[in-house]
Amino acid sequence: MPVSAAGRSAADAAAVRRRNGCREPLIPLPTHSATAHSSRHPGHGVHICRCGLLIPALIALRTAAIVGSTVDSFDPTSKGAYIMAVIGWIGLGNMGGPMTANLVKAGHTVRGFDLSRAALDAAVARGVTATASIAEAVSGVDVVFTMLPKGDHARAVYLGDTGVLASADPGTLLVDSSTIDIESAQALHDAASAAGFRFVDAPVSGGMSGAEAGTLTFMIGGESGAVADAGVFIDAMSANIIPTGGATTGQAAKICNNLMLFINLAGAAEGSVLADRLGLDKHVFWNIASVSSGDSWALRTWYPIAGVVPTSAANNDFAPTFTADLANKDIGLAVAAARATDTPLEIGEHVQQLFQRLIDADQGGKDCSMIVELVDGSLAAAVAEEEEKSRA
Ligand code: NAD
Repeated sequence: MPVSAAGRSAADAAAVRRRNGCREPLIPLPTHSATAHSSRHPGHGVHICRCGLLIPALIALRTAAIVGSTVDSFDPTSKGAYIMAVIGWIGLGNMGGPMTANLVKAGHTVRGFDLSRAALDAAVARGVTATASIAEAVSGVDVVFTMLPKGDHARAVYLGDTGVLASADPGTLLVDSSTIDIESAQALHDAASAAGFRFVDAPVSGGMSGAEAGTLTFMIGGESGAVADAGVFIDAMSANIIPTGGATTGQAAKICNNLMLFINLAGAAEGSVLADRLGLDKHVFWNIASVSSGDSWALRTWYPIAGVVPTSAANNDFAPTFTADLANKDIGLAVAAARATDTPLEIGEHVQQLFQRLIDADQGGKDCSMIVELVDGSLAAAVAEEEEKSRA
């Protein structure tokens, strides 16, 4: 379905700018953006206003996006609120769900697909339009995002007989925000390019709380024009958009970042339990560490003791915000990359074993911060109790 030229006119964009108090003239973006899109949408182009607002005067704008089903949830104060696109999205789990909600709030139409009925229903409740297949989600859209667990899922979704490459309009911008291995990311770049698509690897950091708040960091690898175009759509979901270089460099950055994250999480787990056993109040110790050299994102966001940090999974019996399975996968990507580059990761390899122990205890679907129970002994106690029950 080609994008129609109907949609916001330059006059609409001007009205938007007036509402924001901007009197500067529009400046055409001096990038490939206008050309890249104009081949699909004749006469369309991206304009940037001197006030700093991206005004996609004519990019991917359709009347449906403005007067259609998303109008009730449209929040004109949202970031990216003036970029009205139709977005295909595959993978509406812990991250994809809140990320798409922010796109809807910004006024985009999001056509979502997930194998899980529960994930799809939750996304629909937040304004996503449900589709019954990958093909239905991605055909005729302006951009496709994928947010899937692992490389195998991403390969299946892009390369399958009825997958993204077989179903989207050639030339469509494809953005994979899953965290996957570098080999899979390279395979997707190669296959997308051979089939006439523009593809970027754009993994994210910031967790579910960042996904909810629209403050994720995106690290984007690929051809520079495609990277810049992806940023226009990513705006509503992000606080930081950082180009990393060529194909797969986004994944490389993500893998190294998460190696450090999980080492920090293991540190927070050990420090929190030791502090308790030394008689420190959990709030007092957290207040000290969070403004001292023990500080980390893991400490501030995932502190594994209940009742200290509102975003901690410990408050909710370790219901997952980031599963131990996914943490094991991510740190495993770092360990594999380290072996390939002859880099000793003694601490990383040890932390991977902590996640593996959760998985071996059938807790792989719980939050990764549950490794604290390996430190305080409660997991071993629970396993022993289960074994006792099954013997009785
Ligand atoms: P998740 O398991 O909650 O969600 C993944 C979704 O993909 C699921 O709903 C699943 O049903 C769906 N899916 C799998 N195969 C599919 C297919 N063939 N077609 C359609 N849907 C399919 O995972 P998540 O926590 O949302 O993480 C997604 C990605 O983001 C992972 O690569 C993860 O490493 C990365 N990530 C997660 C976090 C976090 O805090 N959860 C943070 C940063 C990055």
